[in-house]
Amino acid sequence: MSEEKQVKIVTRFAPSPTGFLHLGAYRTAIFSYLHAKKNGGRFILRIEDTDKERSKKEFEENIIESLKWLGLGYDELYRQSKNVARHKFFLEKMIKEGSAYISNEEAKDGTEVIKEIVRFKNPNIDVTFTDVIKGEVTMNTKDLGDFVLAKNLSEPLFHLAVVVDDFEEGVTHVIRGEDHVSNTPRQILIQRAIGAPTPIYAHLPLVLGSDKLKLSKRRGALPISAYQTQGYLPEAILNGIAFVGWNPGGEQEIFSHDELVQSFDLSRVQKSPAIFNEEKLEWFNKEYIKKLSSEEIEKNILARLPEKLQNKKLVSLIFERINKWGDVESMVGAGEFDFFLHAPKYDKAKLIFKNSNVEKTKKSLELAIKVLSDLTEENFDIENIKSALMLVAEQLETRGELLHPVRFALTGRDKSPDPFIVASVLGKNETMSRLQKAI
Ligand code: GLU
Repeated sequence: MSEEKQVKIVTRFAPSPTGFLHLGAYRTAIFSYLHAKKNGGRFILRIEDTDKERSKKEFEENIIESLKWLGLGYDELYRQSKNVARHKFFLEKMIKEGSAYISNEEAKDGTEVIKEIVRFKNPNIDVTFTDVIKGEVTMNTKDLGDFVLAKNLSEPLFHLAVVVDDFEEGVTHVIRGEDHVSNTPRQILIQRAIGAPTPIYAHLPLVLGSDKLKLSKRRGALPISAYQTQGYLPEAILNGIAFVGWNPGGEQEIFSHDELVQSFDLSRVQKSPAIFNEEKLEWFNKEYIKKLSSEEIEKNILARLPEKLQNKKLVSLIFERINKWGDVESMVGAGEFDFFLHAPKYDKAKLIFKNSNVEKTKKSLELAIKVLSDLTEENFDIENIKSALMLVAEQLETRGELLHPVRFALTGRDKSPDPFIVASVLGKNETMSRLQKAI
């Protein structure tokens, strides 16, 4: 057995609460979480709120709620603003040791105020690091000059704060977006100056939309809470986002939280940009809602139907056509069920099936009325309606000859749920009256 001391893996998700985060950011959170949990490590949430003007409580709460909803439990929660004393400590230490200095500079806004900016004494060297995803990366730091570490001793800026916090929180793996690659050499220089170990880096390729363009607030990148509002299941979102630019290999796509933890492998993250596809996310969601009990499905659908449409018979026909609960409201909103509420108005000519004619159509409708009138009010259910109508429909040249005018008379739509379900929901009286009116 190896005597080597096993260092526990610590990852972190370090969002700035300056806006609603979209799924690209949550993908970073998911990968960081999975990598820690897969390896028996710890996952930290660090709110990077040092920018006091832009950081908002509202965004912070949204991040915390969203992680909870996704089931990404963190072992610790830090707020960067609470660590300013330690940032200052390291700034002073660096100044004392000569790796940083205070530079008296005029404020950029042209006022006469002189600021005591803390700058890093850049050794102007090549910095090389190994990235789990990108491989070996070398960057020259000469062009960066003596970059700024803090606006003053009590107002640290991003690079310093990140390095100090990662060091003090024992972060072993920095998993973050590719947009941070160019920051890494600066942060490594600071680590060396304060005697902090360099963590292992994994910079995740960008997430692009299906049009290969960058996701942005205006382009399809919604906060996670918006998916919650649209009636997605958190398990589906977790699974769906984890699969943006990563998969464990093999055919299986549906992975529970625990299965994701077991199968996650950071080195399998795709090197090219990941493509996010909304339809695929809907597919994931449908797979997950299909697994729910029929009671659960019924409860969720009925909860989104207006009072006048509270009918259990509608549940299965609606379920066939939705991917997420919010689709129920969209369908209602689009008037797709209006024919259940009142008799449809339509163009008479549309009652006629393809190459049929008025006479044949009238005959079909009369036949339908005849067979349906044999059913009692109590027997007027999907099964009985179907067998009654099919019996006569099968005798015609094509079934559409009868089924089309019946459907159209009941719904006034070319595309609608099948006429048997519609008739059973409408009930015998209303069905008969609509068929009669069509004749
Ligand atoms: N706070 C930074 C951001 O929101 C992330 C810093 C990091 O991951 O190192 O982009």
